[in-house]
Amino acid sequence: MSLHPLSSEEAELLAVVRDLGQTRIAPRAADDEAAARFPREVFDELANLGLTWLPFPAEVGGGDGSVRLSLLVLEELARASLAVGMGLSVHHLATWAITTFATPEQRARLVPELVAGRLLGAYALSEPAAGSDAAALATRAHRDGDTYRLTGTKAWVTHGGVADRYVVMARTGDEGARGISAFIVDADQPGLEVAPPERKMGLAASPTAQLHLDDAPVPADRLLGGAEGRGFAIAMAALDGGRLGIAACAVGLAQAALDQATAYAADREQFGRPIADFQGVGFLLADMATRTEAARQLTLAAAQLRDRATRDGSRAPTVDGHPDARAITRAAAMSKLTATDAAMQTTSEAVQVLGGVGYTRDFPVERYLREAKVLQILEGTNQIQRLVIARHLATDAR
Ligand SMILES: Cc1cc2nc3c(=O)[nH]c(=O)nc-3n(C[C@H](O)[C@H](O)[C@H](O)COP(=O)(O)OP(=O)(O)OC[C@H]3O[C@@H](n4cnc5c(N)ncnc54)[C@H](O)[C@@H]3O)c2cc1C
Repeated sequence: MSLHPLSSEEAELLAVVRDLGQTRIAPRAADDEAAARFPREVFDELANLGLTWLPFPAEVGGGDGSVRLSLLVLEELARASLAVGMGLSVHHLATWAITTFATPEQRARLVPELVAGRLLGAYALSEPAAGSDAAALATRAHRDGDTYRLTGTKAWVTHGGVADRYVVMARTGDEGARGISAFIVDADQPGLEVAPPERKMGLAASPTAQLHLDDAPVPADRLLGGAEGRGFAIAMAALDGGRLGIAACAVGLAQAALDQATAYAADREQFGRPIADFQGVGFLLADMATRTEAARQLTLAAAQLRDRATRDGSRAPTVDGHPDARAITRAAAMSKLTATDAAMQTTSEAVQVLGGVGYTRDFPVERYLREAKVLQILEGTNQIQRLVIARHLATDAR
């Protein structure tokens, strides 16, 4: 259901991604999860298909694809495996931050391998004592000749230990958001150690780990954008895009749960007929489908706002003062909130539709349910999304 049909090239690419997802990625997702194995070779395939470079400008080797198309790609991938869909979304988030805010010299030196997908990106904002209140982060970076010495702990880093290049937010100045800078730190950086992965309730195939920085001498030319104090604005601008990626992944996960539940309800018979014929089950499926579609359309509408800003020449609308900047931030928060709540409810209802087998590992819906929960937490909890939306409403009403 779309008011804006895809071009034939876009439809062709999505068909290829769907085929890859359903024939190669979905069948291995349960095994990767059970073995807590990050499927790096799948990322190599995504890179070969051009999916790591899709949303980036041609001048850095990107595919100049629309945000809308990249979200549809993320949805298809997450429908097959959330670890893969979310992994690409996080890679895009980190790559976008570097691509958009790098100096011309940094862009030439540090971006092409990320865009091409030869290197995997990660984004390190959160800390043990600074989660929702990210501006309170305590990791310090002090200038020492040609280096910045970084000391502190970054927490919950998706791809921690498997990423090649991290965007690390650290404090170069006073307390508060304006004292924060962003650094591009490679995995082999002396003084950087990655802790063992967190033992999570789901998404074991997507490692999440702390980074410990102990007086790590990061070359001064790795200060993103070449200026101190811009790190928090960079981090928030990246999240405006990242939240749309998470929303698209949530739609994909909800769609996967709906697919499973619909197929099962058509097949499973009780009282001499398919359970889908009982109104109590049919209405559940109808609600799941409607909620998933509503989340998809809200997310795609938000993508179109971003695409319009890009056509106006703005790659970072919330930083460069584009007239739609506030609407873009609000739409991203609304999409993330709606889609991840939809995924939570839909995956829970899918378990209900499958009955007892839904609660076993013989079907993937129990995994979907465990995975959906994290989407309400990362890249800003859903309470924080509500906070963003409420602040916008209050400001507009003044
Ligand atoms: C699997 C996973 C992957 C992640 N990946 C990354 C990553 O790649 N990079 C990264 O930087 N971070 C990452 N995160 C961290 C994530 O963004 C944080 O967990 C999140 O921002 C919440 O921070 P917190 O866990 O410290 O919770 P807290 O901030 O301590 O919040 C605890 C509870 O209090 C609520 N709360 C806090 N403040 C308010 C408020 N003002 N109003 C209402 N409610 C409030 C929260 O909503 C939450 O329910 C990841 C987290 C997970 C679980």
